[in-house]
Amino acid sequence: MEIFLTNTPSGKKEVFIPLEKGKVGIYTCGLTVYNYAHIGNLRAYVFSDILRRTLEFNGYKVKHVMNITDVGHLTDDADEGEDKLEKGAKREKKTPLEIARFYEAEFIKDLKMMNILIPQIMPRATEHVEEMIELVKKLQDKGFTYSAGGNVYFDTSKFNGYRDLAKLEKDPEKQISRVEKDTFKKHPFDFVLWFTRYKYDKHSMLWDSPWGGGFPGWHIECSAMASKYLGERIDIHTGGIDHIPVHHTNEIAQSECAFGHRWVNYWLHSDWLVVGEGEKMAKSKENFLRLKTLTDAGYDALDYRYFLLGAHYRKQLEFTYEALDGARNALKKIRNRAGELIKSYGDCFPEEPESEYIDDFTREVNDDLNTPRALAVMWEALSDNSLKEAEKLSLLRKFDKVLGLDVFASGDVKIPVEIEELIRKRETARKSRDFITADQLRKDIESRGYEVLDGKDGTKVRKS
Ligand code: AMP
Ligand code: ZN
Repeated sequence: MEIFLTNTPSGKKEVFIPLEKGKVGIYTCGLTVYNYAHIGNLRAYVFSDILRRTLEFNGYKVKHVMNITDVGHLTDDADEGEDKLEKGAKREKKTPLEIARFYEAEFIKDLKMMNILIPQIMPRATEHVEEMIELVKKLQDKGFTYSAGGNVYFDTSKFNGYRDLAKLEKDPEKQISRVEKDTFKKHPFDFVLWFTRYKYDKHSMLWDSPWGGGFPGWHIECSAMASKYLGERIDIHTGGIDHIPVHHTNEIAQSECAFGHRWVNYWLHSDWLVVGEGEKMAKSKENFLRLKTLTDAGYDALDYRYFLLGAHYRKQLEFTYEALDGARNALKKIRNRAGELIKSYGDCFPEEPESEYIDDFTREVNDDLNTPRALAVMWEALSDNSLKEAEKLSLLRKFDKVLGLDVFASGDVKIPVEIEELIRKRETARKSRDFITADQLRKDIESRGYEVLDGKDGTKVRKS
């Protein structure tokens, strides 16, 4: 079945055609790791995860690259202000790299809790400065740069397609608010590829370069790392909508000028998570909620995932606890239903069920990742009296490959560590065919009030 994706430059749903049959390369702009991710950031990564899972569901082999920004992203996207990592370091009286590694690890924990498949490659900007310098040299050799005030700038007047992605007007004042005017720029759209300017002499992360000691601009990192891991032509690039007018517009300019051809075939952007009256959730504001804030309040991280899947990624979504409660109830209902089905059927159900519900589900996710409608198909299948219970079980398992809601997790029960330890010991015993010990361990688990369910995906337990 064909997959349709809304491509930002055309603003239309387009049929997805990969560069290479059966394979897809995706590049996702990752987090700037100077603070915890907020739940708005996680919306952007649940979206790219659904994209990857949908492509895999359709049989594609996906190579997913997501960078970690640990240098160069200033407090204003358009080259003004302070490097966010330096800012985080001052706030916590640590070095920028200590800050970066700490928040990167916290970010990855959040991704795992949200059941986001970890991208195969997660390159750090600080470990790819050499590649960035090479790319800037290439742009310089081709005549797309100029030096002023110690910085190396990209000259946007040399690239005809500069305004295409964001459909920017010619007059930049109408489009982008520049906090401060950079008097060294020939044109306000121009952007820094390499900083050495006096203004940043307090910057502690410095690298040698042909233009002097300094550090790279934010945009060049994505072009350098994306091309290193995915080549000079890429199927899909994702990010939040805030990246359209500056970051992605600049990525396209420098990449297409350096490589001499079209760079990315499909640009996909997810809309914001807002709170209150349409206010964007941001790390710099007080409206900042972390995943931990939700889990400390007793929610499962996947309640939040369910909440996100209830809206299309291209629509702004307002976060409220009432809506999160609704998502929690819905997920609990599915998990209880899944638990009942497992109880009756164990793993005696077809691995690849045939059902028109699969076609319906596939049609919905393939229609620009329409998760709200895909969830509706799942509910319809569950309440269809003409379906056998074993079929429903198979369908749930299949749908969950895309939804990632862990529907076979046991309801709202958190499995205690000691029970998990017993499960591990029992699995080891079973693997070494020591069935007597395995049986004793099963009884031990059961005597503590848990039921053991052995399935194809390993052993699960739930409260009996
Ligand atoms: P940053 O760390 O600022 O580069 O942001 C990481 C990702 O989160 C980017 O793709 C942003 O577009 C996205 N993002 C930031 N704030 C929000 C928000 N309130 N809602 C949805 N996505 C967001
Ligand atoms: Zn990027």
